[in-house]
Amino acid sequence: MKYSCEEIAKITNSQIFGDSTLMISNIAYDTRKIFTHKETAFIALETEINSGRKYIQNAINKGIEIIISTEKIETPHPITWIIVENPLEFLQKLARIHLQNFDINTIGITGSNGKTIIKEWLFLCLNDDLSVVKSPKSFNSQLGLPLSLLEISKKHQVGIFEVGISKPNEMDIQESVFSPKIGVFTYLGSAHSANFENQNEILLEKLKLFKNSEIIIYNGDFNLVETEIKKSYADKKLFSFGLKKHNFVHLENDFNNKNEDVLISIGEEKIKIQVENRDEATISNMLCIVAVLKQLDYKNEEIIQKLSLLKPIEMRLESVVGENDNLIINDSFNLDLDSLYISYQFIKEYRKQKRCLVLTDFMEGKDSSENFYKYVANLTNQQNFDKIFLVGEEISQYQKFFNNESYTFLNTKQLIDSQQIKDINNSLILLKGARKFTLEKLKNILALQKHDTVLEVNLNAILHNINIHKSLLKPTTKMMAMVKAYTYGLGNYEIAEILQHHHIDYLGVAYADEGVELRKKGITTPIIVMNPEQSSYSSIIEYDLEPEIYSLRVLNLFHDKLIEKGIQKTYPIHFKIETGMHRLGIKDFEVADIIDNLKDMNVSVETIFSHLSSADSETEKEYTKFQANNFIEISSKLIEGLGYKPILHLLNSSGIANYPEYQFDMVRIGIGMIGISSNESIEKKLINAVEFKTVISQISEVKKGDSVGYNRNYIANENTLVATIPVGYADGIPRSIGNQVGYVGINKKLFPIVGNICMDMMMINIGDNNFIEGDEVILFNGNPTLKDFSKYCNTIPYEVLTSISQRVKRIYIKK
Ligand SMILES: *Cc1c(COP(=O)(O)O)cnc(C)c1O
Repeated sequence: MKYSCEEIAKITNSQIFGDSTLMISNIAYDTRKIFTHKETAFIALETEINSGRKYIQNAINKGIEIIISTEKIETPHPITWIIVENPLEFLQKLARIHLQNFDINTIGITGSNGKTIIKEWLFLCLNDDLSVVKSPKSFNSQLGLPLSLLEISKKHQVGIFEVGISKPNEMDIQESVFSPKIGVFTYLGSAHSANFENQNEILLEKLKLFKNSEIIIYNGDFNLVETEIKKSYADKKLFSFGLKKHNFVHLENDFNNKNEDVLISIGEEKIKIQVENRDEATISNMLCIVAVLKQLDYKNEEIIQKLSLLKPIEMRLESVVGENDNLIINDSFNLDLDSLYISYQFIKEYRKQKRCLVLTDFMEGKDSSENFYKYVANLTNQQNFDKIFLVGEEISQYQKFFNNESYTFLNTKQLIDSQQIKDINNSLILLKGARKFTLEKLKNILALQKHDTVLEVNLNAILHNINIHKSLLKPTTKMMAMVKAYTYGLGNYEIAEILQHHHIDYLGVAYADEGVELRKKGITTPIIVMNPEQSSYSSIIEYDLEPEIYSLRVLNLFHDKLIEKGIQKTYPIHFKIETGMHRLGIKDFEVADIIDNLKDMNVSVETIFSHLSSADSETEKEYTKFQANNFIEISSKLIEGLGYKPILHLLNSSGIANYPEYQFDMVRIGIGMIGISSNESIEKKLINAVEFKTVISQISEVKKGDSVGYNRNYIANENTLVATIPVGYADGIPRSIGNQVGYVGINKKLFPIVGNICMDMMMINIGDNNFIEGDEVILFNGNPTLKDFSKYCNTIPYEVLTSISQRVKRIYIKK
């Protein structure tokens, strides 16, 4: 917003004293949160227990020149006053009139739980396509709502606002300020509320928000909600969502069965989505998002795509591997009843037998009565924690309500120093705290100690990227993941394991050894060996690996081995055909002989495939078409000769992105999993799955004329600071990117590598930046990106990744 004092006084019927031409674009109500006095007015709110007038002097000391209050007070120098009868009503009136100035589609969200999550998710879904304004944090009260509405400006097309109430009759006021076009009712909780008689009363009050809405989207799993909405709002467009089958948007299958994707019905239509976190609250919230997106005219494919974007916040609870076999779930994002409930749902997903809870004061101000903590304790007692650590003066007083073994601490430091926390082992530890308690300090202490230089692999990002590629394909198309060369340098088992867990159809390795290692660790998914060396045929057979057969010669040699080993079962093999890559492959002229030879062999051709040479090239579209046509022609001959139809596959990651028309029955994803695509618009949707990072070992002052490193290849041309980092060419950084060819990122900015790169170290010119030893340094992904880094090295991401030496510790994050 931006109004002059004069305009504001006029539209709100207020009196004005002083310079009425001053402009207002912010309204501050808490002097501790005044970050700028420019165009800011301080509003002195009057509440039952406090008066903002006490803080006017404070605001003026901070440079504020405009005060909105019920009366003037003496000030040392003249300021501008807007005198109002009731400051809160003034704000509400201003917000109402402000909103009327815009032609904006409005969504109003109310309910007992989930308002903030639904709002944030919707924002993420819509923000790519529309200019969206939303309530900050969970600003949904009598005060929060008008302040949120005042953030609307001309550029916005959609506004998503939370609306909350705490007392009877408040919704009438909220509704008079903001009457949303689309109303969303999230959830009817049993959460205690001292101010209402019963659930029904709360519900009726909340539903008043929809008095003038056109569309109401509501959680139809609650009979009461369904009945009341249908009774009061029969004339509106009503859409329900929920787990139960009668809802417009509902689940078709059992969401607890992780072996299946979640199948959602939208009226007569169905969509399938992959969901990681399958707690009831998350699923319900997703269904709500589906219902809203549908009303905003999104197509089903778009909805699937949007839902895949939600992954990162769906998992805002961070899980970290701890010392002593502990698993730490850190949720210090916020602490209120909503989020506590969600955390409790979330940890049910984990298999760890023993569970501990760290819980702090709620910091809810006047809400935090004895009754409130009694409710918290009740909710907690149902979760069967083995031990509970209560942190804070307030919650400690109510230890008696908690049934389990419990300990109290006045602050986080006391807890960290205690023996009880050190004794925990083989447990899940849920950290649930208000920001103020900085539980992340505890997390850092409980977490497994970190290495300085790591290649960090984000397994969730890999799944996300796979889903993005899947969304480009028909639902029936199978997918093989190429995990060759230690999954492009990222790691073997960890990645294969999560892919197997998510039902990838095939894994592809280059050499038999790689496949053997996976089998030994328990991977049972079919594995194709792309380069089956003759010397490895025995282990291929022993470990149930499936060879790529790329010539008549190889077919016969492999078959000889099967006979020699007396293998009785029909052995699965895969035909790779030559279509234009000229690397490995069965040639057109060999087909007849191959078919002939196969007649006496006990093998089954599971798949027939080929590889595109230029799927990532704009200029080779014709050649790709030529290869695809060759593939169709030669594979047809093979199929005819075989008398059955194996799975056909041709596309690598770039192929999926650029030529989905050639998807046949399966595709082979590789670099795409890692977040790299040759198709820019698809790359935008991918998440980086790998980050190579280290920390500054030492910072040195280098004077003008001083030299850095071997052979004095860098001479400082002015006084500067040089940071030494513990990564060198033995870690896989090419020596050729020293001497200011390559850059690293510190604090999001790029700094050049100076001098020659050493075996285990290199030096960075950080100018006069105020970094400290131990600060994080990004080799790639972030700034610079992996693609940038590849350019310094004059190569492609594939080579960069596979060159990172094995001594660099790989760590895997899975949230
Ligand atoms: C490596 C490989 C792939 C994957 O290629 P990307 O470009 O990483 O997607 C697919 N098919 C074959 C035969 C491969 O060797």
